[in-house]
Amino acid sequence: MPKPVIAIVGRPNVGKSTLFNRLIGERLAIVEDTPGVTRDRLYGTFDWRGRDYALIDTGGIVPDEPDPILLQTREQAQAAMDEADAILFLCDANDGLTAIDYDVAEALRKNSSKPIVLAVNKADGPRREQNTPEFYALGLGEVYPISSIQGHGVADMLDALHEAIPDTGGEEEYEEDVIRLAIIGRPNVGKSSLTNRILGEDRVIVSPIPGTTRDSIDTPFQRGDERYVLIDTAGIRRAGKIQGTIEYYTVLRAERAIERSDVVLLLVDAVEGVTDGDMRVGGMAQDAGKGCIIVVNKWDLIHGVQMHKYAQDVKDRIKFLEYAPVAFSSALTGRGIPGILDTVQTVAQNHALRIGTGELNRVIRQAVDAKPHTHKGRELKIRYATMHRVRPPTIALFCNNPQLVHFSYERYLTNCLRAEFGFLGTPIKLQFRRVEKEEK
Ligand code: GDP
Ligand code: GDP
Repeated sequence: MPKPVIAIVGRPNVGKSTLFNRLIGERLAIVEDTPGVTRDRLYGTFDWRGRDYALIDTGGIVPDEPDPILLQTREQAQAAMDEADAILFLCDANDGLTAIDYDVAEALRKNSSKPIVLAVNKADGPRREQNTPEFYALGLGEVYPISSIQGHGVADMLDALHEAIPDTGGEEEYEEDVIRLAIIGRPNVGKSSLTNRILGEDRVIVSPIPGTTRDSIDTPFQRGDERYVLIDTAGIRRAGKIQGTIEYYTVLRAERAIERSDVVLLLVDAVEGVTDGDMRVGGMAQDAGKGCIIVVNKWDLIHGVQMHKYAQDVKDRIKFLEYAPVAFSSALTGRGIPGILDTVQTVAQNHALRIGTGELNRVIRQAVDAKPHTHKGRELKIRYATMHRVRPPTIALFCNNPQLVHFSYERYLTNCLRAEFGFLGTPIKLQFRRVEKEEK
């Protein structure tokens, strides 16, 4: 489900990170594209009154630019106006009202159609409380005094946000046979060029229908009898504009597009090869259980390298996506694209492939007979298997003791299933469950 995005905007030191941590609970580290760089994760999710929200801490001011604080705070606010569903403008009761607050408030008031909630932080002493009424002068309506450290006022502020963000209603429904396709990858790998190619003259664009959030637009298209919807086309086309410190919007957007898709095209730049960032995005697709095709784009720029060699290098580097086919494209010339859409079709079928219980148990039995598994002298006994879900294929294996299963054995079983049924392009989930009655 796409969650409304709330961006916390404000000067340095007003307490954005403190508030973020209070709402998210924990701060997870993310590994950046730059090798060796780990930095705090700048977005997280929380729920309030039964609704989930994505929260963005827009910190990260770079101190050595001319007039850095004003310009960069303004820039954050601008990005938030473009990308978020609501803005939480945070000021500081300790400092009182400052010129920068005025400036940013004016920009928000003039240019934003998004809901804005004004909170004045550090209102945790009698003297500081007295400072909060002056913030009405910003013309942003109600002022919410809060203390991010102690928690005072935070609930009222969240209620105000909750009220201000229109209910997005349920998830948009696409029919069962529509393939939801997401194109993901780092900036400049060619996502919007590929999108344009795919939606080119020879395809029928049915009609762009708005997604659940204001700025997420999906584009349905048809190819012969096959029906697709390209997830977050607007985001792909706009993401190029977003640079530098505000790349968290790009990451968040990719995450949401992946969540809503069946099949993901992970674009890799042929000239640059697979980067850490590509792996991270690939990991997101895997964790979400989506079908995946690795697409090496800008192949027109590569000369004298054989495709199968290049594909092998890609596979060696992104080992965990061993099930994902590697395809080659040039969004510039259009080469490779029909083949990729054929592969999407195959992967989508595999992602939704249901194997009958009889057949499944036959294969599992053969696998176990060929290579029984013991752990600390105890034999793993798999009584029966059933595929209880698809998208991705999810198999429950009822056994004497799930603790006996070693990762390598799980892998072995997965490989046996792949050898029998193919499952190209889709992850398979195995869930080991204990059968209550154990044989003596
Ligand atoms: P950011 O730069 O906007 O992310 O601000 P930080 O979250 O890093 O906070 C800046 C400073 O303000 C830190 O020393 C915090 O401990 C302090 N601070 C944050 N929230 C509160 C609050 O509610 N009350 C008080 N007294 N101090 C706070
Ligand atoms: P995005 O940021 O991932 O959406 O990337 P764009 O589609 O905006 O492409 C970034 C740049 O790469 C643009 O200058 C494109 O013209 C160029 N580009 C995209 N695909 C290809 C390709 O297949 N071959 C070549 N040579 N250039 C490409």
